[in-house]
Amino acid sequence: MSRLLQSYVRGGWHTPPDSGTPILGAVDGGEVARISSTGIDFAAALDYARTVGGPALARLTFHERAALLKTLGLALLAQKEEFYAESRRTGATDRDSGIDIDGGAGTLLSYASRAKRELPNDTVYLDGAVEPLGKRGTFVGQHLYTSRRGVAVQINAFNFPVWGFLEKLAPAFLAGVPTIVKPASPTAYLTELVFRRIIESGVLPEGSVQLICGGVGDLLDHLGGQDSLLFTGSAHTAALLRAHPAIVRNSVRMTAEADSLNASILGADLTAEAPEFDLYVRQLVTEMTAKAGQKCTAIRRALVPEALVEPVIEAVRARLDKVLVGTPGAEGVTMGALASTGQRDEVLKAVRALETSSSIVVGSAQAPEGPGAFLSPILLRCNSSDAAEPHEIEAFGPVATVIGYRDTAHAIELTARGQGSLVASLVTADPTVAREIVLGLAPYHGRVLVLNSEDAKESTGHGSPLPVLVHGGPGRAGGGEELGGIRGVLHHMQRTAVQASPNMLTAIGGRWVTGSAQAEDGVHPFRKSLVQLRIGDTIRSGPRQVTGADIDHFAEFTGDTFYAHTDPVAAAANPLFGGIVAHGYLVVSLAAGLFVDPAPGPVLANFGVDNLRFRTPVKVDDSLSVTLTAKAITPRASADYGEVRWDTVVTNQDGDPVATYDVLTLVAKS
Ligand code: NDP
Repeated sequence: MSRLLQSYVRGGWHTPPDSGTPILGAVDGGEVARISSTGIDFAAALDYARTVGGPALARLTFHERAALLKTLGLALLAQKEEFYAESRRTGATDRDSGIDIDGGAGTLLSYASRAKRELPNDTVYLDGAVEPLGKRGTFVGQHLYTSRRGVAVQINAFNFPVWGFLEKLAPAFLAGVPTIVKPASPTAYLTELVFRRIIESGVLPEGSVQLICGGVGDLLDHLGGQDSLLFTGSAHTAALLRAHPAIVRNSVRMTAEADSLNASILGADLTAEAPEFDLYVRQLVTEMTAKAGQKCTAIRRALVPEALVEPVIEAVRARLDKVLVGTPGAEGVTMGALASTGQRDEVLKAVRALETSSSIVVGSAQAPEGPGAFLSPILLRCNSSDAAEPHEIEAFGPVATVIGYRDTAHAIELTARGQGSLVASLVTADPTVAREIVLGLAPYHGRVLVLNSEDAKESTGHGSPLPVLVHGGPGRAGGGEELGGIRGVLHHMQRTAVQASPNMLTAIGGRWVTGSAQAEDGVHPFRKSLVQLRIGDTIRSGPRQVTGADIDHFAEFTGDTFYAHTDPVAAAANPLFGGIVAHGYLVVSLAAGLFVDPAPGPVLANFGVDNLRFRTPVKVDDSLSVTLTAKAITPRASADYGEVRWDTVVTNQDGDPVATYDVLTLVAKS
């Protein structure tokens, strides 16, 4: 008997008591593994995640979680040859496996690095500015995100057994939410192998990840209001899950990514001779053949100006003729097999339905003889631009339909008939066409790629979701959204509006809020190391008078001789100033002169300012004072220094703020 897949639940490997259901290999149809989830106590698995995994993650800051993801990503890359070998049995060529395996590990690394830069070294994330709620400044509001106390349950599709679970795991893990992974059965053996290596690595805290191979039993019945369900697969299953009583009753957060009839448009500004024409054709062929077209983001509809339908078909044919379908890893093979012969039957059924209004112009709707789920690419031409089928039927394989369009408005209208897609691409050399089509398509799409000869060399391609960009789409595409950098992390957290006094808000959010206490103990805060410094530590300095000579000198010295600083008559006519004013940058420079402590000390560098605003013009002989307050302190895990954000307010002799900003410094830990 072949390998009986195990699940990883409640801290151990679970072997099903029965012999399971066979999983057949894509390449030779032979049995690769058996799968069953019999005997798993699903309610107990959820409970374990909530009571063991959740608390373990809650003890770590965003930065500590990020460091673990990075270690894990590197460990998986170091073992990828083993994963590639197993991946070939799913029908994937090594190029396909690169997308799945390296893409999955790369997503962990991308998230780790984003989190260190964009999230605090804390467990709470502050969202947006403090909102003043009372005239006297004693009552303010702040939105903040905290980790939900539930479980992220993933139900994945068969086409990306590695990337599919890692791209969902990374944001949930960073958010401090434990995950239960349920891979699609046809390729679960690859997920199980990678998962096994993850557990062996010991990198992730116990309970933060569990694996269920086989059906989910009564798992969904036990989902509650802190849990979420992340689904990728067919629209049919998505609809079933969405209507599940526990999901409806408990308002379980659900995100779905389902079938998507993605379009690629060739701009009406192009001719068959334009360099962009070739880019269009090449991209279409890549999307038809990568993963044998089994990508939720692959191009299903090729929309081209009516006059270019035949030239596009000929150019695609010429390229498809060079594609060699066969056993992954064999000499010269450029396209592997579909995931199973059952899946191939589904694809051919869809092709026959498409033939109602389209004709096959490359390939054939006949499965080749012999074992294995091989199928050569199939290109169809739509015979009527009003046909419904190409916009409704998804053939989840190496299949695309060329559809002619009359003008740009028609192209937008046809694309929208897909009722919402994950991605669309547009190939054009004309910025006016680009704006019209992108704005026309955007409401129906999660991502739009504009390709031309300027970005083609660096383009990551139509079909590649990226960790930093959102992945998902409205309507038929499932209505969900994943990834998108830190946006994806926040999906797993709860946003709460907190109303309180400034002092309370400072204590709650760990970030100094205007109006809360400022501490002046006689020691300049720049003389304090990161461990000595406290939020609220303040230095007040000034006054410093700004003379006409200062302004003249600054103008001459920097070359900034804008008339408002140098020409009294012209400056007097300026409706905002009514006379000579100091340069904003002079004000900021004088403020630095007031607050800086010059001797060597723990402050290592000033790496920028944020949110600089000049609020009141500074006139000749005005006097400036500055107040600098430690607002946020962020140690860097792998360095002997950290970041300090200083709230900075420069005022004039009347106490009016003339400039406000955050100064950003690097400060030694000790
Ligand atoms: P399914 O929707 O059948 O399966 C997707 C996942 O859902 C699998 O893990 C499956 O598990 C699980 N599942 C199925 N039924 C249930 C249920 N009642 N309760 C809980 N979990 C369930 O999609 P397939 O993977 O079979 O693919 C079918 C079609 O979906 C493709 O032909 C394609 O059209 C589309 N698809 C879309 C993708 C996208 O990313 N948008 C990706 C892949 C497919 P199990 O495998 O154990 O049955």
